Amino acid sequence: MSTDVVDARRAVDERAEPGTIPVLDHGFVRLDGCMADDLSVVNAARVSFAQRSEELGDRDQGLIRFLMRERHGTPFEHNAFRFHVKVPIFVMREWARHRIGSFNEWSARYSQLDPEFYIPEPEDVRTQVGKPGAYSFDPVAPELARHTREAQAAVYEQAYAAYLDLLEQGVAKEVARNVLPVAIYTQFYWTVNARSLMNFLSLRNAVTAQREIRRYAAACEQLFGERMPITHAAFLANERRAP
Ligand SMILES: Cc1cc2nc3c(=O)[nH]c(=O)nc-3n(C[C@H](O)[C@H](O)[C@H](O)COP(=O)(O)OP(=O)(O)OC[C@H]3O[C@@H](n4cnc5c(N)ncnc54)[C@H](O)[C@@H]3O)c2cc1C
Repeated sequence: MSTDVVDARRAVDERAEPGTIPVLDHGFVRLDGCMADDLSVVNAARVSFAQRSEELGDRDQGLIRFLMRERHGTPFEHNAFRFHVKVPIFVMREWARHRIGSFNEWSARYSQLDPEFYIPEPEDVRTQVGKPGAYSFDPVAPELARHTREAQAAVYEQAYAAYLDLLEQGVAKEVARNVLPVAIYTQFYWTVNARSLMNFLSLRNAVTAQREIRRYAAACEQLFGERMPITHAAFLANERRAP
């Protein structure tokens, strides 16, 4: 192994790194790399007429709004956002359903997971009201919030102790991990183009999405809006409907 390879978990406090957006109690979204601007949308569309813009003018901004409104989606695909994300596994399961994009995830077969588990803030401990498909979520009484957090912390501690015990006794990581809850944190890289990202944002930065993934989607949306502000504004004007 090359000497410049570091343990990404312990080399730095990644939540404090510039450009990293902390999410939940241990997670983050970080834009690891990006090839994206509004001009690429315009020029992908203008090549139909063998034309190209050097700078984004008023006409070009109008063209982006037109493409968004009329759902001419392919010009929004000539870009890439590479996110580095740290999330609880239950959030990752929802995220991984978005097939138009590339994922690579930390392997719990090859390395030991850290004892980092998601415990919701008291105000995020909620009860569901209503029917399936139309739930609303209300906060619970402070005493129940405290009990929920303590119950989760106790299970996490016991589960992680069992995990370490099995590893110590020689059980393979891929088997020992079976005792760990889905609130444990994982990390992954996700590379996605703006069209697919907007589809993700329309579904996951929405009131109908689970609160935890919504917080991550909001962080992704902030980074998207900084890199492609005209496209993002057109997305908002189009009632967050992906082209
Ligand atoms: C609020 C909410 C609740 C959910 N609940 C559940 C649930 O209870 N159970 C469950 O299993 N999932 C659930 N999902 C996941 C959901 O069904 C989708 O799998 C997920 O949102 C990914 O959406 P997508 O297919 O549009 O995204 P992507 O997979 O990124 O696809 C993007 C677009 O590409 C096109 N596309 C991709 N693959 C195909 C294909 N094979 N055929 C045709 N077109 C394709 C579609 O136009 C699609 O919209 C839920 C999602 C949300 C947001």
